[in-house]
Amino acid sequence: TDTLAQSDPEIFDAIQAELGRQRDEIELIASENIVSAAVMEAQGSVMTNKYAEGYPGRRYYGGCQFVDIAENLAIDRARQLFGCDFANVQPNSGSQANQGVFQALIQPGDTILGMSLDAGGHLTHGARPNQSGKWFNAVQYGVRKQDNMLDYDQVEALAMEHRPRIIIAGGSAIPRQIDFARMREIADKVGAWLHVDMAHFAGLVAAGEHPSPFPHAHVATTTTHKTLRGPRGGMILTNDESIAKKVNSAIFPGIQGGPLMHVIAAKAVAFGEALQPEFKTYIRQVVTNAQALSDQLIKGGLDTVTHGTDTHVVLVDLRPKGVKGNATETALGRAHITCNKNGVPFDPEKPTVTSGIRLGSPAGTTRGFGETEFRQIADWIIEVVDGLAANGEDGNGEVEARVKAEVADLCARFPIYPGL
Ligand code: PLP
Repeated sequence: TDTLAQSDPEIFDAIQAELGRQRDEIELIASENIVSAAVMEAQGSVMTNKYAEGYPGRRYYGGCQFVDIAENLAIDRARQLFGCDFANVQPNSGSQANQGVFQALIQPGDTILGMSLDAGGHLTHGARPNQSGKWFNAVQYGVRKQDNMLDYDQVEALAMEHRPRIIIAGGSAIPRQIDFARMREIADKVGAWLHVDMAHFAGLVAAGEHPSPFPHAHVATTTTHKTLRGPRGGMILTNDESIAKKVNSAIFPGIQGGPLMHVIAAKAVAFGEALQPEFKTYIRQVVTNAQALSDQLIKGGLDTVTHGTDTHVVLVDLRPKGVKGNATETALGRAHITCNKNGVPFDPEKPTVTSGIRLGSPAGTTRGFGETEFRQIADWIIEVVDGLAANGEDGNGEVEARVKAEVADLCARFPIYPGL
């Protein structure tokens, strides 16, 4: 009956400090968001206690009647959101969703074709240190040198040469929309499955503000915690019943045991929120804000990869100011603006240094920032970067301190979790 503060003050204090950090800092990490209190309530619920191996109505444990309600709601709402016939809401993460697709459709040693990490792909799309790069013959495509746009001709050439079993479209640092029809055409030419990983832009698809992977994709995966604004987790979608059956067996008993029923309940809550008209308004603002951020950064003398964005992602090229991604991430951190260093396509710097930072509008937009605020944030970024350009890695302490104070004022005007 003890509260967390009484029973474990060390963890309580860490959580309070994290709440303070989220309240007081501007969150620009493109893969993060701020979930509703309802999502957190579901995730912090007694459903965490329940074992429910199997699927609704066919479990390997008794007492599943109520968690079945939660999982069925999550499935029905996911199908409605993405206009597809089958959803598996059990993957514990986006990585496990992708692993589930591979387990369902291919064998170790088979060839897969995905976007390289350097160009904006994800580790799980065949990067060398990842299981996908170790267990499969992973071939990687990239973007075109002249405009940093996805190189469909290269995808086609590599597909014809290597005959992959799966082609993966999607990534973690792609500011532009992907031509799913073109990717499917290429997949059909070589008899490959088209797997769209929409982890980043799933919220945009759900809101109708981005083309849907369907009907082009044979299978789509996503995380639930980025633009979709749900709990951390993954999901697999398809319109093909035979793929759905294989995916279900791949997730359980293939790669997972008992599903996280509290997280699945929270996924259902988030999907319910995403079905509301307000979510469409939110996502429209996410895209508008990202465009304002990109536009203002360019006006301030930085560049953004592809000179803009169609999504929530802004990939900043710092080279016009001669500063590095790692130093910029740290300096912005000192000013309470949180982001991550990120390679730009054909980056001459090591991944631990990089020439870029990746920014995103989902979290800021959730707390109510509009274009005015995002333009202000761009101006602060420029000021901090100019400090680095002038003084090296130490930056300009005075500017950083002033920006930090202004950030605090802005965050106070747009409070989060007032009840906590
Ligand atoms: N796929 C893409 C495109 C991603 O950006 C991510 C997130 O980093 C993942 C998969 C993996 O998701 P998770 O971090 O939940 O494993």
